[in-house]
Amino acid sequence: MSKRLVYADNAATTRLSAAAYEAMLPFLRDGFGNPSSVYSLGRDAAKAVLEARQRVAAAIGADVQEIYFTSCGSEADNQAIRSAALSGAASGKRHIVTSAFEHHAVLHTCDFLKTQGYDITYVTPDRNGLISPDQVRNALRDDTCLVTIMYANNEIGTIQPVPEIAALCKESGVTFHTDAVQAVGHIPINVKQQVIDMLSLSGHKLHAPKGVGVLYVNRRITPSPLIFGGSQERGRRAGTENVPAIVGLGAAITDAVSGIDERRQYVLAMRDKLIDGLFERIPDITLNGDRHTRLEGNVNISIKGIEGESLLMLLDMQGICASSGSACESSSLDPSHVLRSIGLDEAAAKGSLRLTINEENTDDDIDYILEKLPEAVTRLRELS
Ligand SMILES: *Cc1c(COP(=O)(O)O)cnc(C)c1O
Repeated sequence: MSKRLVYADNAATTRLSAAAYEAMLPFLRDGFGNPSSVYSLGRDAAKAVLEARQRVAAAIGADVQEIYFTSCGSEADNQAIRSAALSGAASGKRHIVTSAFEHHAVLHTCDFLKTQGYDITYVTPDRNGLISPDQVRNALRDDTCLVTIMYANNEIGTIQPVPEIAALCKESGVTFHTDAVQAVGHIPINVKQQVIDMLSLSGHKLHAPKGVGVLYVNRRITPSPLIFGGSQERGRRAGTENVPAIVGLGAAITDAVSGIDERRQYVLAMRDKLIDGLFERIPDITLNGDRHTRLEGNVNISIKGIEGESLLMLLDMQGICASSGSACESSSLDPSHVLRSIGLDEAAAKGSLRLTINEENTDDDIDYILEKLPEAVTRLRELS
């Protein structure tokens, strides 16, 4: 019997959907025209990019002119923050509010801005991984040019009160950006109803290919470019479009936002079975992040006396793909900044395991994890 593969790391990346794959194929070879070219091969590519733009806009309730394709979610975060910082400085505003458990694409951009004379306030999530609108309100100053708070956390899956935060920023006349990379396709998002000024999303977290992202920017705001060059993306993001990836994103995002409710129900039942089952079978574990205000597919636990990295290796031998901390951090020895920000000590942070399931998982996958994970924990505890 061939080894079973249970993929439970969907917060790191997702499988390309069949629809995205099919939509991309023509543009990988025959439809290779440059969207800027005038002949029909180029115009066909331009038309495909426009259709994808329309699909992305419709998926988040934006206008077509408010969608900028980028090379990834990280680039969208960088551009949103640097653009707001630049226009803030033009009117003497050099203060930014963010949170301590943002993705590094946000945190490291803020680190850079600090070296350029900006002042950053980091609001800290509570023990359950939630930020309150009042914390953000209290952090605002007269010179605040941007608030950037993620929609859903990539490690612990907690969902932030973004509509409330966006509304209070609007009241105060402060630009609001949200890194919604983990949220789009999982939570219904409408940027107009939720008064969001800027939003980042990434293709590969919602069954589109890697190497494509989107920055939504409300039409009142003109974003400044991060990449200078040609006039692609209305001069706001130079570089010949990644046509196949953009087309794949258009196909995937339409599927991702339709049927959210049924998918949530299906995934939620599996997640609750997984959490309950793990608590029944493994002593001395704790759930990281609020039990209810979290993404349907996210399970993050700390296991006493265990090194997350060793556990991942044992799980890999059983064909289970999971993560400890976040994938970006697996090469560094520092414990996850997200887990530290919600008050975990170093040992609890290093003894964490993240399982992120989605609609491609089955009940059998959950049973398999519930069989293999406790065995692996017992083995590691016996060794130490
Ligand atoms: C994955 C991720 C990103 C980065 O997206 P890339 O397309 O991989 O650059 C940013 N923010 C969050 C919350 C993410 O989960």
